Amino acid sequence: MVKTIKDLDKKELGSKRVLVRVDFNVPLRDGVITDDSRIVAALPSIKYLMANNAKIILVSHLGRPKGQVVEALRLNPVATRLSELLGKAVIKFDTATGAELVAKTKAMKDADVALLENIRFYPGEEANDVDFAKELSELADLYVNDAFGAAHRAHASTQAVSSYLSPAVAGLLMHKEVEMLGSKLNHPERPFTAIIGGAKVSSKISVLKKLVPKVDTIIIGGGMAFTFLKAQGGQIGQSICEDDHLDTAREILSLADQFNTAIILPTDNKTTSNENIFEKHQTSDKIETETCASNQIPQDRQGMDIGPESVKQFVKIITQSKTILWNGPMGVFEYDVLENGTKAVALALVELTSKGGTTIVGGGDSVAALEKFGISKNQLTHISTGGGASLEFLEGKTLPGLACLDGYSSSTTEEAEKPHPSFAEELKKASV
Ligand code: AMP
Repeated sequence: MVKTIKDLDKKELGSKRVLVRVDFNVPLRDGVITDDSRIVAALPSIKYLMANNAKIILVSHLGRPKGQVVEALRLNPVATRLSELLGKAVIKFDTATGAELVAKTKAMKDADVALLENIRFYPGEEANDVDFAKELSELADLYVNDAFGAAHRAHASTQAVSSYLSPAVAGLLMHKEVEMLGSKLNHPERPFTAIIGGAKVSSKISVLKKLVPKVDTIIIGGGMAFTFLKAQGGQIGQSICEDDHLDTAREILSLADQFNTAIILPTDNKTTSNENIFEKHQTSDKIETETCASNQIPQDRQGMDIGPESVKQFVKIITQSKTILWNGPMGVFEYDVLENGTKAVALALVELTSKGGTTIVGGGDSVAALEKFGISKNQLTHISTGGGASLEFLEGKTLPGLACLDGYSSSTTEEAEKPHPSFAEELKKASV
């Protein structure tokens, strides 16, 4: 699988300078961190290394400074927040390379925590430049990658640096993500249902194709359902649709038939008139909605959320499942009048978790939805911290920031055989 900091001998950590790649790419408004969950997610590794008397040198990117110093993207607010969370002063360095900095890291005491400057201030970072990586490696004796959210990028601090430091191992967050999105979903308790939503089919084709042979049921909601509904001959009015992916949708439907995987589409939708509600209305109470059959949406209307009948059906399937993977909202949940489908799915997941089910949320907009509904991370089995990375991992792609670590093997992405008769067959029988 992959070696982690817990596989290291305590002697390998004590008094050693450990370069830890973390994902502190937090949202900032006027220099204030609006969500610190990425910092919180890195705490277990940092605390473990502190407890083992390592000298911890954290490295992260923030935003897109594109190889230049951007004052507003310095990591000072992150260092302040991390100090508060650890209850210990964090040393903030204003650079990330150089002889002076090397000397400063050597002067660090055991269990000290330091944070380098935004690594994307350096053009060598995104270029995965080996000379830059070599310079970075001079700051430490060993390497830990705990930045799952950046593991799909082959950058100097996520990949190249690992060639110059040994051991190079995974942090606890990286390990948990791989366990949850990999082992857990490849050996799921069945029935196993994937719920995929969001705006576009095109961004989730690969993940859908990968999931079809693995899961018993795929629920498709959100805007992407309309490409499927149109592919089946439905009238979808002005709903969002990717006409150039109608064949892709048909291909996924026939693949599902081949693997006896049930694909469940909404049967009804909450629609709005064909005007740009986003521009016209700042608040959702002005938006009028009407529920229509999903395959008979009037010409001048667009489906913006799943309807009550679909909510009932989706929730029923969730309740009957033992493992759920969720990625993407069921509607334009950002507006209160259009949040119902997404909220019902989220609450059904919470309920299933409380009854012992495994619920894994694969990053991105569904995480934003959970936040909107006040659902905390301990109410679900796992909420991935990586949007793009989690999607690529689920697609079965090799993540460069993971594959470069000691002991890596791709066994986590191996699929488990689907037992027969599958849940899909039972579902089909039940619905006749
Ligand atoms: P994605 O990034 O593909 O997961 O898409 C997430 C976005 O899809 C969210 O911002 C939702 O507002 C949007 N979305 C969900 N359902 C619909 C829909 N029926 N029509 C248009 N946009 C939608």
